[in-house]
Formats: sequence, C-alpha cells, structure tokens
Amino acid sequence: QRKHKVTVVGSGNWGTTMAKLVAENVKEHTSLFEETVQMWVHEEEVTLPKESKHYSGSDKPEKLSQLINKVHENVKYLPNITLPPNVVANPDLPASCKDSTILIFVLPHQFTARSCEQLVGKILPYARAICCTKGVDVGEKGIRLMSETIGMSLNIYCGALSGANIASEIAQEKYSETTVAYDPPPMDSRNPTPSGSPNASQVDLIAPSKAVPGPRSTRLTPLPTEYPHLSHDNIRKLFHRPYFHVHLVNDVAGVSLGGALKNIIALAAGFVDGLGWGDNAKAAVMRVGILEMVKFGKAFFGESARASTFTEESCGVADVITSCMGGRNFRCAKMAVERGESIAEIEEKELNGQKLQGTSTALEVNAFLKSQGMEADFPLFTAVYNILEGNAKPEDIPELIEPKH
Ligand code: NAD
Ligand code: 13P
Ligand code: CA
Repeated sequence: QRKHKVTVVGSGNWGTTMAKLVAENVKEHTSLFEETVQMWVHEEEVTLPKESKHYSGSDKPEKLSQLINKVHENVKYLPNITLPPNVVANPDLPASCKDSTILIFVLPHQFTARSCEQLVGKILPYARAICCTKGVDVGEKGIRLMSETIGMSLNIYCGALSGANIASEIAQEKYSETTVAYDPPPMDSRNPTPSGSPNASQVDLIAPSKAVPGPRSTRLTPLPTEYPHLSHDNIRKLFHRPYFHVHLVNDVAGVSLGGALKNIIALAAGFVDGLGWGDNAKAAVMRVGILEMVKFGKAFFGESARASTFTEESCGVADVITSCMGGRNFRCAKMAVERGESIAEIEEKELNGQKLQGTSTALEVNAFLKSQGMEADFPLFTAVYNILEGNAKPEDIPELIEPKH
C-alpha cells in the first residue's frame, strides 16, 4: 500500500492556513498520507520588522520560502501563527508538486491558469485536486469554475472546498464549518465498471451547463489501486479538524459558485456600510445577493448546481454572512467609500500583498452576463460592477436593486 503525498499550491493567508491544518491531519493518518506537506511559495524577498520576534538584528531582505522553513511561520501572509514542522515551503512549483497525488490549489484566481500551465506534463497523471480558490474564469468560450480550469488544463479530477472561512480565525483554531465537494470519478472506484479503455477514460468534470457550450470532459487516468481510495471518508480525514468541521457533498459547481459570487455581495455590503447606512441596509443587499446567487446557479449551471447547496451548506448563505461582517472585500469596499479612494488603492495600501477577489470577479461575471444579454436580471451584481467602473455611486444601490415592474 502506497501513501498519498500532498502539496498545497499557494501560501497566502488562506493557503498557509490550509497547509497548517492539512499538515496536522496527515500526522494523525499516517497509513493514508505521507508526513511531509509541500507548500508552493511564490517567491519574494521580505524584511522582518524590528518588532518581529524573529528579528535577528539585520535589515537584509530574506527569501520568504527560506524564512518560512527557518522560523516555521509565514511572516508576511500569516504572521504570529506557528506552522507544524512537516510543512515544507518550496519556491519551485513543479518540484513542489512532483510525485504528489493530492494537489490543493489555494491561489488567488487571477494566478491559477498561469500556474497550471507551468505544471502541464510535470505532475502525476493520476493526481487529484481540490480547489480552495474563490473566483471564476471568464473567457471567449463562456464562464468556467476554477476547478474546471485546473481540471481541464491538467487532465485531472478537481473538487472544491469553500465555506464561511475567514482564514485568520481558522489559523487561531477557532471553530468553523466548511463544505467540500468531491464527486469521486468513476474510474477511481474500487469496483470499476468494465467500460472504455483500462487505462484512461473520458469523464465530464461537471454535468453539462449553459455557461460553456459543448462538452467539458477530460481524459482521466485512474488512481492506481495501491493508493488508498479517495472516498469521502478519506477526503474528510485530510481536512476535518476539531476546529474545522467538514461537510462533504458532490456539487462542485454549487460550492465553487457560492465562494465566487459572495465576494460581489461583500463589496455591496461594504459600500452601504461605508455610507454609514447601518445593518438594515447591509441585510437588504445580502438578501438580494443571495437570490442572485441562487438564480445564477440555476440559469447557467442548472444541471449540476443545486439550490440547496447555497441555502443549506456553509459555502452559501453562511459565507455571505461572514464575508459581509469581516471579510477583506467588505472591509476594503467600506474603507474606499469612507475615504473617497478607489478599492484598488485601498487594496495596495492596506493588504500587504494580499489580494481581493471580489473586484475582478464582479468584472468577469459582468462580462459573462453582458454576453448573455442578462445584466438586468442580476441588478445587484450589475450595480457593483457599475460602481467599480465609476458609472454609478454607492448611494444609487437602493434604486438599482429595486424590482422593475
Ligand atoms: P492572499 O490574498 O493572502 O495572498 C496573495 C497570494 O498571492 C500570496 O501568496 C502571493 O505570494 C501570491 N502571489 C502574488 N503574485 C503571484 C503570482 N504572480 N503568481 C502566483 N501567486 C502570486 O491569498 P489567500 O488568502 O491564500 O487567497 C487565495 C484564495 O483563497 C483566494 O481565491 C481567496 O478568495 C481564497 N480564500 C481566502 C480566505 C481568507 O480568509 N484569506 C478564505 C477562504 C478562501
Ligand atoms: P475575503 O477574501 O473577502 O477576506 O473573504 C474571505 C472568505 O472567503 C471568507 O469565507
Ligand atoms: Ca479571465
């Protein structure tokens, strides 16, 4: 029996938190997983501030990956949280993924496709992935989930993890829930049906959808039977912690869309809060936003996304709530209105390299809705886009989201 080797692709605020919790879990399930968890670091030089407990008296910049391995802390993106020593930071993307059967993608969505390109032909053909990124990928062909972008470029199966999960709270081991969507591909089943080629099979990554016309299938290589089956039970063992409660479902589209679309709603909540309008206004945009999220799933991913995923799982309404209370998109949109600056300026000044996903998601979703002639059917998503583009003001939101008779 072989063991699964795990790589976390990404090391931002959430990426480093995921590496921490997965590294804690692999140590508890040594028959399933190898003990070392690789974490890919997009390399940069950092200078430790004098207040840091790791400050050594020198102001010479150091490589972030080397610092992480020396002090077991991501001093830039997750300061003051000690990482288990079995997290190994690696600045070489293909090397960090070499021989790994499980790839956990946690990159900001704008870097995901380019990072996958660097991995083509360099990973195990039977690797499996879980995407923790919140965003979507809009191109000429339509809209894709980030799990599809990963799965189709690398010819591997990719599930999704998303929930009401503000990283800093989870890094401090405060209780939260999450939703993991993993629909084990049929050829990984331990009782395979004798159909197709014995080595590789054509599989649809998600059920047909209107979002991208044509098949979205890819050729998957079965996971060799020497590895433990990636059943829901074993996937749970990789992510579930006493402080991080995992619920497994099969709806990859619903889980992915919840995480992406809530960021647009969080911007709207930040805009009205920035005006000083209070909690009723915030609740109003959350209500309209949740309806648009469900409608979007039904309109474009109706064969695969289930409305109940948005209403019953952590990745839907619960993530809208937490993101509209304390998420970065909410906080930056609020500051932008209060200070009369653009969100991009606030992101640059206040986030120390962390990235907002809501602004680019609002633009991508709008480009897609325009292509479908459906902007008017999603008034809140469209209002956020128009505010970001300077075509409308936050004060216009009540009028813009009022149903037209
Ligand atoms: P982050 O915003 O904290 O950090 C940005 C990351 O991007 C850094 O690791 C940086 O090194 C990296 N980066 C910069 N330029 C790059 C490039 N050219 N190529 C590759 N990487 C580059 O990151 P995060 O919080 O880990 O976010 C990753 C994803 O996780 C996002 O989609 C986010 O929505 C999602 N997420 C975040 C949280 C949270 O609370 N932070 C919670 C749930 C989900
Ligand atoms: P922000 O990226 O807006 O901080 O949202 C974090 C998140 O996804 C909480 O679930
Ligand atoms: Ca795009």
